[in-house]
Amino acid sequence: MRVVVVGGGIGGLALGAGLRRRGFEVAVFDRDTDVAATGGYHITLDKRAQSALGDLVEPTIMRRLLASGSALRLRERDAFWDRRGRLLGHGPDLGGSGSVDVDRITLRVLLAEAVGDGLHLGCSVSGVGLDDDGAPRVLFTDRAPVSADLVVGADGTHSVVARHLAGGPTSSPAGIIGFSGRTLLHDLSPGEQRRLRPRSGLAVGPRGAALYVGFLDPVGNAALVAPELRMSVTTGPTYIWGAMFPESAATDSLRDLRGGELKTALLGRFRERGWAEHTLEVITRADPQSVAGFRFNAASTRADDLAPWPAGRITALGDAVHATPPTAGMGAGAAIRDAASLLEHVGNATGGTLTDAVGQFEAGMRRRGSEVLTLAMKTVRWILATDTTLGAAATVVGTPILAAAARLRR
Ligand SMILES: Cc1cc2nc3c(=O)[nH]c(=O)nc-3n(C[C@H](O)[C@H](O)[C@H](O)COP(=O)(O)OP(=O)(O)OC[C@H]3O[C@@H](n4cnc5c(N)ncnc54)[C@H](O)[C@@H]3O)c2cc1C
Repeated sequence: MRVVVVGGGIGGLALGAGLRRRGFEVAVFDRDTDVAATGGYHITLDKRAQSALGDLVEPTIMRRLLASGSALRLRERDAFWDRRGRLLGHGPDLGGSGSVDVDRITLRVLLAEAVGDGLHLGCSVSGVGLDDDGAPRVLFTDRAPVSADLVVGADGTHSVVARHLAGGPTSSPAGIIGFSGRTLLHDLSPGEQRRLRPRSGLAVGPRGAALYVGFLDPVGNAALVAPELRMSVTTGPTYIWGAMFPESAATDSLRDLRGGELKTALLGRFRERGWAEHTLEVITRADPQSVAGFRFNAASTRADDLAPWPAGRITALGDAVHATPPTAGMGAGAAIRDAASLLEHVGNATGGTLTDAVGQFEAGMRRRGSEVLTLAMKTVRWILATDTTLGAAATVVGTPILAAAARLRR
């Protein structure tokens, strides 16, 4: 069976790797010309995502990934702060967590290696349809069409394939715009190092401003201690942060800025919302080249709204179907689990049952997508609630009380 995968991001490459490993003829097409030229933020893979990945790639790839990943169980509990940097509370104990954080670049490079010569870069897909024999066909902007037995759209949030199947967009802006960057722990002042500690955390202030600080250390907190296999882009204790604001014409215009100019503008947005200067150090000291903007898109949280098409020999997975804001750290994991599930169903199908296999896969994907979207949208709604008159007042009045209660508990 010949499978064509549109999109060589996390889900498409994971699927391509699994199909190749199982002996399918597979071609993955991506418009990017370099797999390493992708956002440098980290991806959290929980146990389910790791198990799915273990079904898709060779054990050697899995070992190199874990040797490049930072184990959550070695991190302190997550913290919640207010805009003054006062501690409001903690997340659950991570001692029993099986999750790992990996650089998105490292993950994508390893998956691309697993797909090998089945990956075709610099190929922009312009549409999908059926050829004269009724077989699924992929159209490109600047090369001849390709037909297949099965076409899978893994082309992300603005998917051409899912749009064709659904007859329109499958997601819409979530109302938040995000900016990420990376800052080495050792570049922070001793005071901020002591406050932030080797842990991740989230600070939410009034008027919808939030700052997520993710701690990543694939050397000191290696998920698998095998330095000879390590290939992470992050080479020491690092904070990968995400600044979030409600989407508006003013915040949207920040997306046109780059590097130091973008950093200065972001700092200005926090300062005008009353954030204490020391809480912004993680942005001030960031590598300007690492700072970039993203608009968060989200699909419906209702399972019935996802993949609203009859099953056939063209399908889609990952963000193409259930675009998930990064606020739950689960979008990439869900795309990988989609890939493993599709492989399992298609691998067990023969001849005429391919459509049934796709139908069973899509039913599971709807449940998975709804689960991760529900979690991610909880945080999005919480951040947006602080942008209402009542929410802003509650944040300003309530956080000092929470901070005092947290101090008493310590
Ligand atoms: C700041 C940020 C932080 C995140 N953090 C996490 C996290 O911690 N954990 C987590 O699980 N998830 C995280 N996510 C979400 C995660 O990155 C996505 O959910 C995940 O990458 C989805 O995988 P995908 O394969 O569906 O799409 P993508 O990885 O987006 O891949 C889509 C691919 O399709 C290609 N493509 C698109 N259109 C075309 C076309 N017309 N022709 C050819 N190629 C095309 C693109 O070039 C891209 O490579 C984060 C996202 C952001 C923005």
